[in-house]
Amino acid sequence: MSDPAPLGPTLRIVIVGAGMSGLATALGLARSGFTQINVYETAKDLGFVGAGIQVAPNLARQFQRLGVWDDVATDAVDLEEADVRACATNEILASVKMTHIADRYGQPHRVAHRSALAKALYNGCKAATPNITVHFNSAVLGVDFDETKLLVKQRGEEGDGHWVVADLILGADGIKSIVRKRMLAKHGEEDRAQETSQASYRVMLTREQMSSDRDLLAFLDSNASFRWIGPRRHVIAYPISNHTIFNISTTQPDINFAAAPTATYTTRADKSAMLAVYADFCDVVQRMLRMVPEGEVCEWKLLVQNPLRTWVDGNVALLGDASHPTLPHLGQGAAQAIEDGAVISWILSKLTDPADVNAGLCVYERLRKSRTEFLVSQAAVAGRALHLTDPEAQAARDEAFRQVANGGPNPDKWLDREVQDFVYGFDCINDAEKKWEAMFAEEKAKQ
Ligand SMILES: Cc1cc2nc3c(=O)[nH]c(=O)nc-3n(C[C@H](O)[C@H](O)[C@H](O)COP(=O)(O)OP(=O)(O)OC[C@H]3O[C@@H](n4cnc5c(N)ncnc54)[C@H](O)[C@@H]3O)c2cc1C
Repeated sequence: MSDPAPLGPTLRIVIVGAGMSGLATALGLARSGFTQINVYETAKDLGFVGAGIQVAPNLARQFQRLGVWDDVATDAVDLEEADVRACATNEILASVKMTHIADRYGQPHRVAHRSALAKALYNGCKAATPNITVHFNSAVLGVDFDETKLLVKQRGEEGDGHWVVADLILGADGIKSIVRKRMLAKHGEEDRAQETSQASYRVMLTREQMSSDRDLLAFLDSNASFRWIGPRRHVIAYPISNHTIFNISTTQPDINFAAAPTATYTTRADKSAMLAVYADFCDVVQRMLRMVPEGEVCEWKLLVQNPLRTWVDGNVALLGDASHPTLPHLGQGAAQAIEDGAVISWILSKLTDPADVNAGLCVYERLRKSRTEFLVSQAAVAGRALHLTDPEAQAARDEAFRQVANGGPNPDKWLDREVQDFVYGFDCINDAEKKWEAMFAEEKAKQ
């Protein structure tokens, strides 16, 4: 734990959303000595959709900084290898060793259950009571940027809700962010969610459900991830929860949300529709998908956002998916969201005058915006390479995969050494430490 922040006892901080970035930011701030942190969350409880999540070295580093790593470590599986396979034939196009990652970046590449991460963060927040209060059943309906206050409506509350006044508001409210919507509206700009026309099935198999299939059990017992690529679609799968659960995530053209638009971006999906989408994939993928119990298929609509002009207005800032939602192909959405929160916590701990909050937030934006937006673009590039439809382009890509063993670049950006250096070799706090003084002076001079 660092020295208490000078503004720690006085700065009233409100966070919208108790997702990955909201909880991590609250905890980071409490650990820096802030004592008045209130988090408002629409949902009645954590309610995280169960799914696997990649815990890349840069994400593990932040959990360790937050002091909640041990709870994740028991769930996490170290990845030693990652296969890319042809969807129809199951041919291994590239088999990439992941064991160098621990030596190169100080942490292995792991995969874990999303709820293990959420619980670890939430337990950390609970242990920081009374400095952090998480208000569930509390939807934020409006933001007053000039007076730094939020309109909050609790479930069952009569009327239009009540105003909560703060010194700083952080919009960690995800892809559908109300804080972003209100900020853009204030600036006369459109909230432009960008259609990716892609959706993702997310399913999990237990050891018991897989027990009749030796090949699949071998996948579950391995320390490997498996990606089957095909035209416009792919399936990625890996063991989580200490090898007791096999996590499967797919990407395919969005048919269902497009046919029946809903306000939510996740829904229970039809198993037979999923099987039909992957009917031309190899037998082992078919067997895996057939094992999923009826009623346990979840589908996510994948959306991104055109880069925003700014993430900051007054003493209000956006972070995580609210500011830079991404396709999942680099496995960095939550990692980048949590890095955002780490940088905000670090910056706020440096401030000595509440009048400098806006300048501090502007430095945060400068430190984070180009990096996260570059990664969003790389996730889209990765998706295009994985989902090629032109046979000639596919053949060239598959040859590139085969050449990875000879040191060639990996078309699957997640597994490419250069991209890994950029993503995992970067410590957002070291970066902030290096640039803080000059950037802060520049932002102060602009005020
Ligand atoms: C298929 C798929 C696979 C993925 N795999 C990975 C992976 O392997 N690794 C990785 O790092 N990332 C992954 N991600 C991305 C990751 O899940 C997100 O980037 C991450 O959850 C973003 O965190 P967040 O806190 O910004 O938003 P969220 O986690 O979405 O949290 C936002 C919170 O705000 C609340 N909220 C919203 N509106 C309001 C309101 N008006 N008032 C109060 N509360 C509100 C919501 O209820 C929610 O709890 C994946 C995403 C998808 C779709």
